[in-house]
Formats: sequence, C-alpha cells, structure tokens
Amino acid sequence: MGEAGDQVTTRRDLRTGTPVWLRNGNVRVASTPLVEDLAVEVAIVGAGVSGALVADAMLRCGKSVAVLDRRGPVLGSTPASTALLQFELDQPLVHLTRKIGRERAVRAYWRSATAVDFLRGRIADLGLRCGFRETESVYLPGDVLGVKELAREARARASIGLRSRFIGADELRASTGIERPGAVLSSGVGQVDPAALVAGLWRSALSRGARLHAPTEVVGIDSGRRHVTLTTADGVAVRAGHAVFATGYELLKLARSRRHEVVSTYAMATAPQPQRLWPSRCLIWEAAEPYLYLRTTPDGRVVVGGEDVPFSDEGERDALLPTKIAAIRRKLAKLLPDLDTTPEFAWAGCFGQTTTGLPTIGALPGAPRCFTVLGYGGNGITFSAIAAQVIQRAVLGLPDPDADLFAWAR
Ligand SMILES: Cc1cc2nc3c(=O)[nH]c(=O)nc-3n(C[C@H](O)[C@H](O)[C@H](O)COP(=O)(O)OP(=O)(O)OC[C@H]3O[C@@H](n4cnc5c(N)ncnc54)[C@H](O)[C@@H]3O)c2cc1C
Repeated sequence: MGEAGDQVTTRRDLRTGTPVWLRNGNVRVASTPLVEDLAVEVAIVGAGVSGALVADAMLRCGKSVAVLDRRGPVLGSTPASTALLQFELDQPLVHLTRKIGRERAVRAYWRSATAVDFLRGRIADLGLRCGFRETESVYLPGDVLGVKELAREARARASIGLRSRFIGADELRASTGIERPGAVLSSGVGQVDPAALVAGLWRSALSRGARLHAPTEVVGIDSGRRHVTLTTADGVAVRAGHAVFATGYELLKLARSRRHEVVSTYAMATAPQPQRLWPSRCLIWEAAEPYLYLRTTPDGRVVVGGEDVPFSDEGERDALLPTKIAAIRRKLAKLLPDLDTTPEFAWAGCFGQTTTGLPTIGALPGAPRCFTVLGYGGNGITFSAIAAQVIQRAVLGLPDPDADLFAWAR
C-alpha cells in the first residue's frame, strides 16, 4: 500500500489566541529535525498528548521509538486544551446505552474511568510536575438532561459501580454556590496543565532513549507485511516495525470517515481570584447544548469554555472569538455571580466530535502495521490514554478486551 502526494494529513490552523498554559511562552523540549534515514521499532507521527502517551507505553515494553512532528513538541491542539480529566463522556450513559447498547456503553464508561486512574498513576510514577489535582465534578441540568433525567443518569451510573451520585439543591449550593435543583456529583476525576504534562512526558521519554524529531513533516507512507516506511518532506526515510498516527485534528487522509467531524471551540481564563472561587473548586459542566464547562487552576483562575460552532474554517472561527468569549462570560456571570469574569487569556481551537462521542483507535484498515489515534471530543486526553493502552497491546500482539469499542468500522 502506498500513499503518494505531498501531504499525508490535512493541514489546519489548529488554534488562535494564547492559552493560559502558554502565558510564559511555548514549553521547551529538545528536538531536532530528522536529517538521515532511520530504522526503529515504532515510529509515531505527532508530538501532542496522544503521541506522548503512546511513546511512553512503547518505551514501557522495551520498544525503540522515534517521534516526528511537523511543528514541534506540544505545539498542536494539546496546549489549547482546558484539560478536565473526566470519565464522564460527552454522551450521558443513558443516551450512549440507547446508541450502542448497554453492554458496550457500560464498557466505554468503565474504560474511561480506568483511563483517568491510569493517567493519575502515570503522572505520580514519573513524578511529573504538571498541576495535576484529583477532584470531583458536578454535572448540572440543562436542555440535554433535565433534573429528573440527571437523577436517572446518576442511578444508571451507580448501578454499575461508577463513582457518581445525585445531589440535591442544598449539597450543590454548599459545594459550588450554584442555585439549581440538583446535579450529578462524580469523584475520581482530575485536572492538569496539559502543556506541562506533555512536556514532562517528552522529557521522560527522551531520558529513556526516545528520539524526537521536529520540525519534520511526514509526507509519504508505504506500509507492507514486514515494515512501514515513512517519508519526510526533506526526503528522509524512517523504516519502522509499526507506525502510529497521533496527528490530532489534522486527519490522516487515508482515514477519512463520516463519523468524525472537526468543529471549533472557545475558551478563556480569568485573572487569579482565589478568594472568589466556589468552595470545592470541583469541575463543573452542564448537560446543555451549547454547553458550558469550568475548572480552576492552582493559582486561583477560572478556566471556562464552550460555545462550539460546527465548522473549522479558521477565518470564521477567529472572527467569532470576541462574540463567543462575551457569550461565555454572560453564562459564567449568571452561574456564579460573585466571580470576576474579565478574561486575561482567550483562545479558540479545532475540536472533534463523533456520532457516539467515542474516539477511533486502532489498526487502520488496508494499511498493515499502521495505527491511528483519533482522540475525539471533550474527553480527548482520557481517550489518548486509552489509545496508548490499546495500541501497546496491539503492537505486542495481545488482544484488548475493549478494542472493538474504538476500532475503525470495516
Ligand atoms: C479548547 C479545547 C478544550 C479542550 N478541553 C478538553 C478537556 O477539558 N479535556 C480533554 O480531555 N480534552 C480536551 N480537549 C481535547 C484535547 O485537548 C485533544 O483531544 C488533544 O489535545 C489532542 O491531542 P493530540 O496529541 O491527539 O493532537 P495534537 O496536540 O494536535 O498533536 C498532533 C500533532 O501531530 C502533528 N502532525 C500532524 N500531521 C503531521 C504530519 N503529516 N507530519 C508530522 N507531524 C504531523 C501536528 O503538528 C501536531 O503537533 C480540548 C481541546 C480544545 C481545543
């Protein structure tokens, strides 16, 4: 199988504005362009959170790893992330059950819950200083699920042992100061600084022998029964036992699918205001369309996002930034009137969605030895962790009990 032409992935302007995580400039991780041919066990295209977690997984099983990125480490979508680490999927359990059946929906929720636990463990094992904090989340009623449906959602989750329960108005007020008749409270979720997380993962991977080459663009793929050869824009070849395409929202042209859609999303961060934050500092999000979600940072800022629009044209997306940030501020002020909603940072970026909210991870049909990670939606980072586990097992020739949930449709 060969792929000619000068672009293997769709090129996009992935984000605009300054995410709060880059307030001191881009994170620095050592990398150099690839200048000579290379042979390696696993080649990874993309140096965002997906590539970093896949590289970590490959190194843990003793594979030699080379990573190639056309921009550089942590320069794609990842630093735009608001980085809520949730097991709750974009599709509530009751809705996902209707879409894909109970057994599969339960497995998807559980796999997501264990992925958040896995991320927490990995951050601790590697001693990464990335602002990780384990916390709770509150899921508020909206036009997607009203308060009665939220109570049902909480029961459905609790019945399969997930760490969610329904709370009434008093407990919600005590935890968040928000006036609503009830919400779903979940524990065992987290938040992180995504740029620091991925920079830490890369530094660790480099210290364990990984090679990180950037700016190096992959423009050709030739995959066969015994190996894959990637060609770069500089005419250098990487021969690998397996190739993993962790290219984020710059989709692999070989992997076009009607199930995936790239849209635009908006976020902002306030100035530090630790005295005005809600008591529990938990994650907060709404069962609403368009949704609003918020979290805090260790220095007491509020990071808030939402207002997705169904297109990825960067001109149109960027022109809407002031209007969308104004809409986010209005919603935030209504929810938590004591906060100062003035944005100190505002940004917009590409975002993905699928019909089920689940990502596509695994072997690329028709391209032997090639895997893709399309860690879509509001749980993109959690899904990147699942991808690292599923692809690690596939490269080792081991089955993964949940691989079918995320596999490419054949
Ligand atoms: C505003 C916003 C808020 C979000 N909030 C959350 C959240 O709260 N929680 C959550 O879990 N997720 C969230 N996400 C989603 C999450 O951030 C993404 O799923 C994740 O960052 C994607 O990481 P990635 O490594 O797959 O992609 P990227 O970070 O974009 O990395 C892909 C890399 O591939 C490289 N590349 C592409 N093509 C080639 C090529 N041909 N050759 C070489 N290199 C190539 C690119 O240069 C890029 O650096 C959010 C996203 C946004 C934009």
